[in-house]
Amino acid sequence: MSDRLPGFSTLAVHAGAQPDPTTGARATPIYQTTSFVFNDADHAASLFGLQAFGNIYTRIGNPTNAVLEERVAALEGGTAALAVASGHAAQVVVLQQLLQPGDEFIAARKLYGGSINQFTHAFKSFGWNVVWADPDDIGSFERAVTPRTKAIFIESIANPAGSITDIEAISTVARKAGVPLIVDNTLASPYLIRPIDHGADIVVHSLTKFLGGHGNSLGGIIVDAGTFDWSIGGKYPMLSEPRPEYHGIRLQETFGNFAFAIACRVLGLRDLGPALSPFNAFMILTGIETLPLRMQKHCDNAKAVAEFLAGHPAAASVSYAGLPSDKYNQLARKYAPRGAGAVFTFSLKGGYDAGVSLVSKLQLFSHLANVGDTRSLVIHPASTTHSQLDDAAKVKSGAGPDVVRLSIGIEDKEDLIADLEQALGA
Ligand SMILES: *Cc1c(COP(=O)(O)O)cnc(C)c1O
Repeated sequence: MSDRLPGFSTLAVHAGAQPDPTTGARATPIYQTTSFVFNDADHAASLFGLQAFGNIYTRIGNPTNAVLEERVAALEGGTAALAVASGHAAQVVVLQQLLQPGDEFIAARKLYGGSINQFTHAFKSFGWNVVWADPDDIGSFERAVTPRTKAIFIESIANPAGSITDIEAISTVARKAGVPLIVDNTLASPYLIRPIDHGADIVVHSLTKFLGGHGNSLGGIIVDAGTFDWSIGGKYPMLSEPRPEYHGIRLQETFGNFAFAIACRVLGLRDLGPALSPFNAFMILTGIETLPLRMQKHCDNAKAVAEFLAGHPAAASVSYAGLPSDKYNQLARKYAPRGAGAVFTFSLKGGYDAGVSLVSKLQLFSHLANVGDTRSLVIHPASTTHSQLDDAAKVKSGAGPDVVRLSIGIEDKEDLIADLEQALGA
């Protein structure tokens, strides 16, 4: 073996996986089992007391899921990861470790519509209060910090318009405030942006999107960067205080730079229960093997489609950070030099009605609420994903009435352009 560190594409295929020790199976098997036999009573007791690592019950961990966790941790440059049932489950499990009732977290206003809903409504019933900031105005994050702030949450490439967030600038604010920066890296995937390299402390993903990549399996993951000191100021008791459910151990003291991933597993996943099916882990692992190939094609196609739309008379504007004229192009060059992603929006001169009409005329694009599929997708956010927002909030989050969102797939770009041309022209 050479002592070269493996590159990204090699990690995408191999990280975390070995031939199965009993059967020699080369693909990671689906360990479709709920539970695992203990060696003896002492072994069982040490697993339950967190003195030994090993499999107990699939709600807490599973060997197929473990390969997925190791692979995504390697691709993101983190110390450890935890796979869960969905992207939304990842967000709940992360914040449960950080917030007590009455605490606050600051979130960028440009987010996936489901996250805006989750933060505004569901989290309120846990006593977790979201405070919104504008990712284009770093000062708005600074001004939002209070003694009750426990975290900052942003998307690296933000829904729905594909805008690029200045991760390093916001990480400086988080560091000054003494709180972790959480980055939702779903739209970028680690192939385009590795937030930990830019100061993120925690990365979350909806694996449902580009990582799985085929529109067939839900999943989520949490990556621990291992960078945050959880003992500061007694602000994070889940990590720094003795845990009664584990004989009084302190997770940070015991697990050091992967204590956050452990907390998510043994306090979050174990007790809240959103476990990922090993079958889904297998599907997503298979998807990740081709992530670098797919992501490059997604980006190249998206750029071609954005250029076509920018020159079309029916389009009022195109928001794609990969276009040199775009206001996020400088940030795209810095953070995502391989491509600015494949999800973006454009607006139509004909407004709301033109948006609804376009969606109904497209044939190759599927009209549905998802992104990051091999297939090209279209949606009109104002009447669907962002319909719960009032008009001003729609515009602020990049989902005004005239806006159409595309998620560009890996088909031939000429076919995608031809489909848009017939739908816009007819
Ligand atoms: C889809 C998505 C989520 C939620 O993930 P689910 O797997 O659907 O729960 C969160 N963030 C972003 C950016 C997403 O696109």
